[in-house]
Amino acid sequence: MHTATSNRTPTPDIAAQISHAMRMMGVAPIPRNYELYYEAYLGSNPQLSKELAALGSRATQDELDAIGARHFSHIHHSRGIERAHSTMVAKLSELLNLLKDEQYALDSYNKVLDEAYVNMTSKSAASADILRHAIGILSEATADTMSQGKERVQSVVQKSVEMEAIRQELDEYKRIANTDSLTRLANRRAFDENLAAIYNSEHLRNFTGLLLADIDHFKKINDSFGHPVGDKILATVANVIRANLRREAFVARTGGEEFAIILRDSTQEECLQAADRVRTVLSSAPFKNTKTGVSYGAVTLSVGVCMATAADDPVELYNKADIALYAAKNAGRNRTVLFEEGMRKDAGRNWLIYRR
Ligand code: GH3
Ligand code: MG
Ligand code: MG
Repeated sequence: MHTATSNRTPTPDIAAQISHAMRMMGVAPIPRNYELYYEAYLGSNPQLSKELAALGSRATQDELDAIGARHFSHIHHSRGIERAHSTMVAKLSELLNLLKDEQYALDSYNKVLDEAYVNMTSKSAASADILRHAIGILSEATADTMSQGKERVQSVVQKSVEMEAIRQELDEYKRIANTDSLTRLANRRAFDENLAAIYNSEHLRNFTGLLLADIDHFKKINDSFGHPVGDKILATVANVIRANLRREAFVARTGGEEFAIILRDSTQEECLQAADRVRTVLSSAPFKNTKTGVSYGAVTLSVGVCMATAADDPVELYNKADIALYAAKNAGRNRTVLFEEGMRKDAGRNWLIYRR
């Protein structure tokens, strides 16, 4: 039996050896460094081991982080999000302080106004001197308050510009977290969210269809032309799906060679037509390497369709569309099948692709 090397957990001895090696190399004993050296110890990522060895014994934290960013992008993304989030919180509290100062300044100004008003209206102080004095105080306080107010407005504007930049950074992280890097479509995580949302609204539930599409015999394509060609074909299939659906259609890559499409505001007929349109376009044009002219043949899709009204929740909807997809495969592939009550999966083959 083969065991994946990345599943190995370090025994206390190994952990001690790694910590010792890090100490000897002057590397700070922090978790993200430990993770790098642990990976190098396992040897499961030769490129990482090579880059770490090339740093020698006096690596700076920036150099170590650069390697981490290349090989553990998931951690570095979340670190980026944390950083952007705490900057946002800091900027917000600066903004609140500025507004508090402004409130305070206006309160003080109000007090000065009140005092001046009392002075001016009191009968005993109705002399020209006192009046002049009160007007002097007032104009000074007005000028001060106005110039402070101007500065604060500038600061508030500056802070909003900074916060807008951070918001954009957070949006970008969110986009990355929801995108499949090979096809640029939405990923499984984004799909799960979108699927769940269907059942939050009666209208959506009544007019939404789910299409599950799986490339036929994709393993053969990989076996015949190699994995990198398989990857290119996956990206092209994604583009063809995207290009042949309405802009509002939600399209995700949910697994290896599996795609899911959520069509809102659509009837059953429209969902079936959309599935067949994509399928026909794909199967009618053979895939070709534009540089070498080598033909990879046509790529076909099997599609299972289920309307949201046929299920009570997202899991049931997915399972029913999956049963329809299974039926499309069983019926000979390169076809679209609509889920119908009574359809069942063949126990011999596991076509359950909804994994939580
Ligand atoms: P079927 O018509 O029954 O769907 O047959 P199939 O060969 O498409 O299905 P199977 O599940 O047997 O194989 C799926 C293949 O997809 C196997 C796997 O190597 C390949 N695959 C999954 N993800 C990727 C990927 O990201 N890139 C490439 N190139 N191949 C992938
Ligand atoms: Mg397949
Ligand atoms: Mg599959």
